[in-house]
Amino acid sequence: MDFDEYQAQAKTTDLGIKNMGEVIQKKTLNVPEFLDKVLGLTGESGELADKVKKILRDKHGDFTEEERVAILKELGDVLWYVAEVSLYLDTPMSELAKMNLEKLASRKTRGTLVGAGDER
Ligand SMILES: [Mg+2]
Repeated sequence: MDFDEYQAQAKTTDLGIKNMGEVIQKKTLNVPEFLDKVLGLTGESGELADKVKKILRDKHGDFTEEERVAILKELGDVLWYVAEVSLYLDTPMSELAKMNLEKLASRKTRGTLVGAGDER
């Protein structure tokens, strides 16, 4: 499965997708369905971080197979929201992935992989 195929299938489970055209047309962040996806992305990222935190805190980083699967499930939830936010911005996930790799390659070439700032 490629990113765009995943994104197309993820779209079928988005209960608020009916207004996506409006989101794209208005190019505004003040639409509940879009904000739901952005907030959902941060929520699922938090769930992922919390599971990892507890493994580090309580088990010194040792994890069971069940915990590995639980972390992967949260990572999958993050992926779903990434697909949805990208979709609401009218951008195929393949394009998003390409943009990200190009940004990182440029930083590597310019020796700015480390440091701070979005535009380094
Ligand atoms: Mg979750």
